[in-house]
Order: sequence, then C-alpha cells, then structure tokens
Amino acid sequence: MDVPFADLRQQYQTLKPEIDAAVGDVMRRCNFILGEDVTSFEREFASFVGAEHVVGVNSGTDALHLSLRAAGVGSGDEVITAANTFMATVEAIMMTGATPVLADCQPDTFLIDPDAVASAITTRTKAILPVHLYGQPVDMDRLAPLIEANGLAVVEDVAHAHGGTLNGNRPCGTLGTAGAFSFYPSKNLGAFGDGGAVTTNDAALAERIRKFGNLGGLADCDREVRGFNSRLDTMQAAILSVKLRHLGDWNESRIQTAARYHAALADVDDLILPVVAPWTERHVWHLFVVRLPNHDRDEVLSALRDRGVGAGVHYSMPVHLQLPCEHMGLGLGSFPHAERASAEVLTLPIFPEITEAQTDFVAQTLRDILETR
Ligand SMILES: *Cc1c(COP(=O)(O)O)cnc(C)c1O
Repeated sequence: MDVPFADLRQQYQTLKPEIDAAVGDVMRRCNFILGEDVTSFEREFASFVGAEHVVGVNSGTDALHLSLRAAGVGSGDEVITAANTFMATVEAIMMTGATPVLADCQPDTFLIDPDAVASAITTRTKAILPVHLYGQPVDMDRLAPLIEANGLAVVEDVAHAHGGTLNGNRPCGTLGTAGAFSFYPSKNLGAFGDGGAVTTNDAALAERIRKFGNLGGLADCDREVRGFNSRLDTMQAAILSVKLRHLGDWNESRIQTAARYHAALADVDDLILPVVAPWTERHVWHLFVVRLPNHDRDEVLSALRDRGVGAGVHYSMPVHLQLPCEHMGLGLGSFPHAERASAEVLTLPIFPEITEAQTDFVAQTLRDILETR
C-alpha cells in the first residue's frame, strides 16, 4: 500500500464538474481581476470564519505582511512570534521593516509559550504574531493581559487552522486585530495556486488592507498610500468558493483520522502523540505531528518512506538557525524547546480523503519500525 502525504489529484477528481464549471465561467467572462467571484468568496469565507470582513490577497505571506502594515507596524517596531514557525511568518514581519523577536514554544503543544512572549516584550514591541500551529489555537486567554497592558496589535497566523476554535466557540482568525489565512494548495482550504485572505472585525483596517493590496487605492488612478500588487486571483476565488463548501466535512474527516491515529498508536513506547490543549475546542489537524524522543527521527522518516508512507517534518529547522535570521546572532541553545522539536518531530499523512485502511497501514508501519529498532 502507498499512502501519499496528501492527495490533491483525488480531491480534484471528486470536485471536477463543479470546479471545471467555475473556471469555465471565469474564462467566458474574461473578467480576470477582482469582480464578483472575489467578492462572493470573501463574503462566504467571512461567514465560514465568523468574521465581519474578509480581504482576499495573493498569499498567506501577504496576508500577514499587509495586516501588520495596516496595524501600523513598521521600521523601529518589534513583532513577537514563534521560533518554530514556518519561515514565511518571519519574512512577513521583515517585509514591514520591523524586527522579528522570537519566543520559544511550549514543550508539549509546540504553540508559542505565553511566558516566553512576556519575557520578550520591550518598549518597542508593537504586535504579537501567534501561529495556530498544526491546526490548534494558541492560548490567547493567557496572552490577553499582555496585549491589553502593552496596547499591542495581534495578527494571527491562521495558515494551518481554517475552522479551528478556542474554547467558547471562538474561531481562529477572530481572536486578534486580524487573521491571516493561506490558501496554498496543501492547506486545509487550498487554491489551485497561491492565495490568501485577511479576516477582521475592523472595517477601517479591512479598507486599508484592500488599498495596500490594490496598488495603494481603490479607484482606478487615485493612489492614497504606497501599495503593493496583492489581490486574490479571480480564478482562484472561483475555485475556492467551490472548495469552501466542503471545508467543514474535510475538517471533520481530519478530526476522525487524528482520533484513529491516537487510538492505534496510544500504546507504542517512545512515541509521543500530539497533545490537544485544554483551551482548544476544535483542532483541525492541518498536520498530525508525533514526536520521537528516543529514536533517530531521520532514520524513522526514511524507513517510513521506504515502505510507502509519505511522512514529512514540520519543521526540521527553527527559524533562528536559518540563513535569513543569521543577523540576529541567535545560536544553538537560544530556544531549547523549538530546537528539540525540530530534531524529534515527524508528520504522518493526514488529508480529507485518507481511508481508514490507509490510516491503519501508516500506524502499523510506524509501530513495526519503532518496535524493531
Ligand atoms: C503556508 C504558511 C504561510 C505562508 O502562506 P503562503 O500562502 O505560502 O504565503 C505562513 N505561515 C505558515 C505557518 C504557513 O504554514
């Protein structure tokens, strides 16, 4: 049996008539920039997330960048984020001219540690950028007093957590000033190319982001601010509208797969299964990340791949040890939990179309590998 990391081809086959029709409509109209498809997707996504405003942009990275900028972040400011995030989070901060300040993660959830955030705050701190890593929310209630006391903006990185909620039915993307979503093809909601969106309940902020993304203005030649070209592509919006109708079911399927992995792997020695935090109401399992404290992770990874399991690693290097952050001068030992996670984590295949038989095969293969080593 072969189990891929994700199966986008199968997803397309299932939705082919709807998607082909939506793409065909855009082509017939030849109205390729903004227009009704983008507006209606924005409205539908706002309703899915439970946010008042949605602004489509070109990517998740741009959603972060433009949200920070619209929140007034710029050069001289500091923005605190997680040391164990995807590099794009940090790049987005750098794009504003602000300085990224990293904080370590919690050792069990891998989410940014509110105590580490507290120690990272300075008089220059302007915003916090919590990453709802792997599909579950950061402990925002513990960050709230810090945010309040220091008057900080909060831009959530929701690239992994479309549909995730914090206790009390509070959706990711509505927990701060703005929520930045990615529609990179493999995300829980993925386009057929790049795409992203910002959610917010602040109408003025939404308007600023829309101007930033549309070359600095909304009317044809009337430029009010220095802008960027970052619109959600019309074809992608049409495709995303089709796919959004299935996102609830897809998340449900991910949740069931995660439960099946938990049941199948609970008794394996030297294997730590992902923790659902007490503040999490709904983990949407963008990634199912286990931890191998007493094995060589890379050897287990290649053994899995040799046997047909498309496992991965998220992420194999914390941001402070990567070249774009070299100037920060943060060496090994700066963020022990993030560093340890990067050496021990292993991502098992989880995607909406994975079958029970495939899930069982992955679990059994991992068990065999670990028990014979
Ligand atoms: C994918 C991702 C991004 C960037 O999204 P793009 O759409 O690829 O620009 C940002 N943060 C995290 C955590 C991601 O996984």
